[in-house]
Amino acid sequence: MPIVQKSEESPRYRYPMSSMEWREAAERIRDEISALDQEKVQHSMHCITWGIEWLDPLMHRYCMETCPSCQDPCCTGKEVFFNQADLLYLTALNTQIPPGQTRSRPWETCRYLGEKGCMLSRFHRPYVCVWFLCDAQMKILSLESNRFQRRFLETLQKIRVHRLALESLYERNAQGD
Ligand code: SF4
Ligand code: SF4
Repeated sequence: MPIVQKSEESPRYRYPMSSMEWREAAERIRDEISALDQEKVQHSMHCITWGIEWLDPLMHRYCMETCPSCQDPCCTGKEVFFNQADLLYLTALNTQIPPGQTRSRPWETCRYLGEKGCMLSRFHRPYVCVWFLCDAQMKILSLESNRFQRRFLETLQKIRVHRLALESLYERNAQGD
């Protein structure tokens, strides 16, 4: 496990953004991340990716069981945004990042919500959309074996540690340490 100094992810960028603001933020992060220790960046990126790969089929199964009959879909909430750690991970992943923040004005619904649910792959979503389990899904998880539940929690913890490590590396560099 890497040395992590932060205990919480930064709220930076967690607000509605215009296309231009999003583009500028993405370009800034892309330029700045290239100055970091690439071995550490790639290690954290791979560990996060590994975790999301493990979570993906599980979350898909839970969603298939609960979402079609949901009366209050979580994606219609207005508080979901990409944060700095999301942008760092997406940039390190070296993939095309989504074309914008989840919304450009506070009252809008998430731009990635389509008729059949989220249009982004799990790797490209804000991380809160990756790990979030609603009450109905928590109930399903509680019926899994203890071993499986432990593995689930360990996976979330591993992802969390590496997202914080990525941010710590990035912020230390920005402070000139
Ligand atoms: S994850 Fe839960 S709250 Fe969100 S849409 Fe599915 S069932 Fe509804
Ligand atoms: S990014 Fe996808 S999962 Fe997250 S709120 Fe938007 S539509 Fe829902």
